[in-house]
Amino acid sequence: MSTIFSKIVNGESHADIVYQDDRVTAFRDINPQAPVHILIIPNKEIPTVNDVTEADEQMLGHLFTVAKIVAEQENVDESGYRLLINCNRDANQEVFHLHMHLFGGQALGPMLMRR
Ligand code: AMP
Repeated sequence: MSTIFSKIVNGESHADIVYQDDRVTAFRDINPQAPVHILIIPNKEIPTVNDVTEADEQMLGHLFTVAKIVAEQENVDESGYRLLINCNRDANQEVFHLHMHLFGGQALGPMLMRR
């Protein structure tokens, strides 16, 4: 079944798209957790990192090139940013279309909250 992210890729659902090409789409998170919060996704629907295959390697590498482009566009390349990918329950993955979060625009603090 298609996720909301596939609908954003093919234009069926609206999103604030900041970058798109034939392999990757990047758009603003609807519920931002930082001043800059962009989701960078493969256009191809891969549910989780567990579903990645070697055939996807080039396309997934392109996510990083797009992350760099978006960071420059958002003017956080020098100040810094965090890239994060959640996988399955313990990471609180909500949308099962693999996506890389790009957070920036403020000091982001330590990587994980201590319990
Ligand atoms: P994750 O927990 O890694 O699966 O993150 C899913 C992210 O998708 C959350 O930060 C949501 O706020 C975001 N999100 C869900 N639906 C949309 C949407 N329609 N447009 C933009 N971001 C969305």
